[in-house]
Amino acid sequence: MIFNIDKETMPREKIREIQLSRLQDLCRRVYANVPFYRRSFDEKGIKPADVQSLDDLKFLPFTLKQDMRNNYPYGLFAVPMEMIQRIHASSGTTGKATVVGYTKRDIEMWAECAARSLAAAGATANDIVQVSYGYGLFTGGLGAHYGAERLGATVIPMSGGSTKRQVQLMRDFGATVLCCTPSYALHLYDAGLEIGINIKDLPLRLGVFGAEPWTEEMRREIEDKLGITATNIYGLSEIMGPGVSQSCAKEQYGMHIWEDHFLPEIIDPATGEVLPEGSTGELVITTLTKQGIPLVRYRTRDITSLNYTPCSCGRTHVRMNRITGRSDDMLIIRGVNVFPSQIESVLVGQPGIGPHYEIVVTREHFTDHLQVKVELVDASLLEKYSELEKVRDRIRAQLRTVLQLDVEVTLVSPNTLKRFEGKAKRVTDLR
Ligand code: AMP
Ligand code: ZN
Repeated sequence: MIFNIDKETMPREKIREIQLSRLQDLCRRVYANVPFYRRSFDEKGIKPADVQSLDDLKFLPFTLKQDMRNNYPYGLFAVPMEMIQRIHASSGTTGKATVVGYTKRDIEMWAECAARSLAAAGATANDIVQVSYGYGLFTGGLGAHYGAERLGATVIPMSGGSTKRQVQLMRDFGATVLCCTPSYALHLYDAGLEIGINIKDLPLRLGVFGAEPWTEEMRREIEDKLGITATNIYGLSEIMGPGVSQSCAKEQYGMHIWEDHFLPEIIDPATGEVLPEGSTGELVITTLTKQGIPLVRYRTRDITSLNYTPCSCGRTHVRMNRITGRSDDMLIIRGVNVFPSQIESVLVGQPGIGPHYEIVVTREHFTDHLQVKVELVDASLLEKYSELEKVRDRIRAQLRTVLQLDVEVTLVSPNTLKRFEGKAKRVTDLR
């Protein structure tokens, strides 16, 4: 079902027309109301009136996460505080949190985009949606919650944590749709088995998973284990929260970006140049309608590509491909660029090992060392040395082919690696 058929199936020319008038309005608003933007436009010698076509977007200044930190907490807000209805923040691992504010209309727009996303995933008003993203400053919980409500579904506002109880309630309440991180979906599955509940036997039929990188291999693994359709939802708090884009049930590949609200570009992260259509690079998003904290050319650091070919679902909005990594997640090991997703694509689906893994990087005698820890499914293998060696050698050889690097593979007992209720932390860099 298409949630907003007029908006989601507009001809491309119409989308571009709306984007241009909204971009012009955005430039006027930020120039008039946000000192940071007035300065950065002035530094480039650009006035809002200079924006005459969508091609002029490339002349506008970027906004970085650091700019948000420098203006902590409210410096980039474009409306008076009395218009702000809600605050969210993204904690990040280093430095100050980035703080975002939403007006009443922003919250409505977010609910609409999240509802479009859930519908694109295949959810309907008849579904019972269990929201197991964290509720709080993190946008995941409330974003999915408002979207499910707007769709007209029944919402179970579970939040993260109490994992075994979650599975019991999932069974008792008859949840049909699950929203959480992909790693938490697997954690819920394992926790269910421990208390004698196989999620595969429950009415659950659909997953709307995101907030962290995951591979196609991981998606299939989740579909097999939980017996559901697993779809991909993308978002980030700086731009809005979950529901910036979503894969459609029809094609699964690529997430439709709700282009009447978000204007995407792909740039070379090293030079900042806009790349030709179809290229892989860093995703940059301009918010076209947001009032509270509108952002011009926000550099997401997420690596992907855009696909403008028409989708069989009927939606005309561009699709972004699965995120292959973040430009700041890339590990440089002995000079070789390594993305955790490359490692995940080798590990997941291998016979005998589970989908949980951890990557540890150390430096000994000035040499980088990459260790991958992965769980065995069957603990008894630990006693069969030759079989264990076989599994280890097979994984090591495949990692070497993909990464062009020697990697230490450590097989650990089932259920010994750390599980996460929200975003999984896969990499420990001890250098
Ligand atoms: P936050 O602002 O805390 O919500 O984090 C946003 C970041 O989470 C994004 O910039 C991405 O790096 C990551 N993320 C969100 N959704 C996805 C997804 N579906 N696939 C990969 N990464 C994602
Ligand atoms: Zn589609």
